[in-house]
Amino acid sequence: MFVFKFGGASINNIERIKNTSDIIRDKADKKLLVVVSAMGKTTNALEKITEAYFDDRKDDALTLFEQVKKNHLETVKFLLVHKWKAAEDQLKDFFTEIEWMLHDKPVRSYDYYYDQIVCCGELFSTCIVAHYLAEQKVKVKWVDVRDIFRTDNNFRDAGVDFDFTTSKIKNSILPLYNDFDVIMTQGFIGSTDENESTTLGREGSDYSAAIFANIMNAESLTIWKDVPAVMNADPNKFKDAVNIPLLNYTEVIEMAYYGAQVIHPKTIKPLQNKNIPLYVKSFLDTNLPGTIINADKAINLPPIIVLKGQQVLIHFRSKDFSFMEGKALGQLHKIFNAVKLQPNLTQNTAISFVCCFDGHAEKTGQIAADASLLFDVDVERDLSLLTIRHYDNATIEILTKDKNTILEQRTPETLQAVIRN
Ligand code: ASP
Ligand code: MG
Repeated sequence: MFVFKFGGASINNIERIKNTSDIIRDKADKKLLVVVSAMGKTTNALEKITEAYFDDRKDDALTLFEQVKKNHLETVKFLLVHKWKAAEDQLKDFFTEIEWMLHDKPVRSYDYYYDQIVCCGELFSTCIVAHYLAEQKVKVKWVDVRDIFRTDNNFRDAGVDFDFTTSKIKNSILPLYNDFDVIMTQGFIGSTDENESTTLGREGSDYSAAIFANIMNAESLTIWKDVPAVMNADPNKFKDAVNIPLLNYTEVIEMAYYGAQVIHPKTIKPLQNKNIPLYVKSFLDTNLPGTIINADKAINLPPIIVLKGQQVLIHFRSKDFSFMEGKALGQLHKIFNAVKLQPNLTQNTAISFVCCFDGHAEKTGQIAADASLLFDVDVERDLSLLTIRHYDNATIEILTKDKNTILEQRTPETLQAVIRN
């Protein structure tokens, strides 16, 4: 059994949906669990609808939703020959649910509505791709993952209930392979025990696919992307970026954690825990070797460069010359936990503690406000965090020359620098 995950770019037009479906059909006899993201930029569009709705701009929300509906209905019309009516009916049921909500006034939290609206992108896309596969005579079963993935009600960053989800996968998904070759479902979304939809955080489909692979004891997970392989840097920012054929779990979890856009950082743990290999492959050219990620020691790696923008540095200083240790640090970590934001890098001195965070304005503002009751606080915004694994002097020189480095840390393996833009 194999798990495949396709991102939004793999289905952002008719040609690509056909291409993705060909890849699935070619491997269908191996028994696949396929997770497909929302089409193209649908998730961003749904976020805009949520903002308009919550801002009391109901007409804007409905107009924007019309556009999303139109995109999907047109795709159905041009893609499907026999199954278009069935697909359209299923889509229209989803549309109606959202429209009902958009006509009411919001009475719950923003994050709650976000999840009820944004979860639809993957429901729409998988419905369309599943109908197309069925037309191509693939024995495919569409599954609403909200019946499988149980989560808590921490909307927009929901935590998965592994016990419930494991028993659902074992009892409701695995038996389907007696009759079907391909189970088509969604990543990124789940539901609470009260049947409210939830999301696991942006780009969370990779993580869902890894959880499926773990619980199903899959032979491998393949993430199909529009790049030839995992590269040692973002090719849009570094023109000399090269492909890396072989990586290990540690390397990838570190790269992803520090902001490399390759794979969602939570993807690695479920795979590592069961020693399931991860393949990153190009859906544009399936003959390319891509990248293999497993537990083996990775050798001869080039410097791996991750540049994460929109960072915020917060300095906390004790007000009365007490040491910045145990109790003070505990108080600060409590404040970070309360807004669910963890520092990407920290540095301690006798009476100060410096943290670099992702530039989430609301959360860092809250941290600064809460901490200023206990400490002197300074905030500096609009910084970058540079991480280089397996650095060498030449790479450091190129990347930090003419830059204003305000904080730097090195281990023998990794260099990190906070840079003022
Ligand atoms: N569609 C969601 C997003 O764009 C989840 C995903 O693609 O992983 O964030
Ligand atoms: Mg993605």
